[in-house]
Amino acid sequence: MAGDVTAIRSVQRGHTPNCSSAGSVVGLALLSVVGCAVVVNAWADRFFARLDGKPRAPDAPEGGPPDPPQAVSFFVRPSTVRARREVGGAIVAMTEPPALLHVDEAVADRVGAPWRGAPVPGALTAPTEVHVAVTARCPVRCTACYLDAGPEVAPGDPKGIEAVLEQLASAGVFEVAFGGGEALARADLVELAATARRLGLVPNVTTSGVGLTAALAARLAAVCGQINVSLDGLGPYYEAVRGWDGAAVALAAIDTLRAAGARVGVNTVICSKNLDHLPDLAHALAARGVTDWTWLRLKPSGRGAAAYADLVVDPERMLELLPLALDFEQRGLAVRFDCALVPFLVAHGPPVEALARLGVRGCPGGHSLLAVDTEGRLAPCSFAVGHAAASVAEGWRDDPTLRAWRDRAAAPPEPCASCEARAICRGGCRIVAEHLTGDSLAPDPECPRVRRWAA
Ligand code: SF4
Ligand code: SF4
Repeated sequence: MAGDVTAIRSVQRGHTPNCSSAGSVVGLALLSVVGCAVVVNAWADRFFARLDGKPRAPDAPEGGPPDPPQAVSFFVRPSTVRARREVGGAIVAMTEPPALLHVDEAVADRVGAPWRGAPVPGALTAPTEVHVAVTARCPVRCTACYLDAGPEVAPGDPKGIEAVLEQLASAGVFEVAFGGGEALARADLVELAATARRLGLVPNVTTSGVGLTAALAARLAAVCGQINVSLDGLGPYYEAVRGWDGAAVALAAIDTLRAAGARVGVNTVICSKNLDHLPDLAHALAARGVTDWTWLRLKPSGRGAAAYADLVVDPERMLELLPLALDFEQRGLAVRFDCALVPFLVAHGPPVEALARLGVRGCPGGHSLLAVDTEGRLAPCSFAVGHAAASVAEGWRDDPTLRAWRDRAAAPPEPCASCEARAICRGGCRIVAEHLTGDSLAPDPECPRVRRWAA
């Protein structure tokens, strides 16, 4: 039985390994409604073929092996359905290649998507992705670490994390991103990831690569959805950004993880020290077989607040990122913009319809993204201050910061209020706004449209 492609409202491609959201794939398909339709049609074809149970050759893995079997069984064993009902439809997790599909009511009925929580005003019933800071311990001390991590910190209690994972699974969360600190500093990281898998969550990891061995890479590859390695530059560029020379460690980690069969991505924080170096970095990554490259905007939190003035890119130059990403796409690199970079994407004026259907998302904090810090406190994203909550469900519904961010996204001040891309961008980065203005709910001062408005 064929499906109606319009029943697929949006396709959000990839796993979610990062502390600031899954990121949005930035490519030529975003620039035209026709290009976007080609991508969405391809996903609709995959989806409806699987829904109808037609035998179909597996899709070629995008940068890694198939996920373990329990994650791909949702159409054949209803008890393991990885879909959940939302107001007006459902979200369905697909694998190989991974994506979240937002579908309409009719498809939600066909899939049998269950309600996992009550509707929450201004947000999904639960996050789709949760960043879990598994430790503030880290063997190194990067200049702009958002968490102020270091080697002297204790690893942390796994019991608290396991309890959180159980609550996230019960709420219908799809993916968790384990970060730190250095996630590999936890001796029980693989066990935590296995717990997440057993509960039906896809565990992902971000690492600098410090502490990775071939044996550990093999264990992680067997259980993780994706592992992203942080690499801000090669040689002196890495050291200029991070304050220590870890490029060789990161490159070795990429190779080791790929050899172990892991799905591997690379994270690069875009800053003044590496902007002009991106073409060389792209060349090196493509030569190593990397295809998934996430660019992250610098966040002024933790030690990053003190380093911000030195490392931030002139906002005018941030407009160079889209042309660069499109160029790198031609070399086989799928570049993702993190949530905070979206103002610099929409400033180029791509069709809002294409952005929406291809799952481009600015500031998802409190809407589809939740962060859990090392003390178990909840926040809308990893860079915001967390609050204690009696449970994940209660915090998701009632936390004051989450509610304030939702209210702002629903009724932002100018110039966001009259911005054509407002529903996609959701008002820019709250962390940058707070750092530069003292008000976390103020317009993002680096957004090109906000800058024109203020001039
Ligand atoms: S405040 Fe919003 S845009 Fe900024 S990092 Fe957090 S979730 Fe992303
Ligand atoms: S004006 Fe606001 S909503 Fe529009 S792009 Fe800038 S930050 Fe985003």
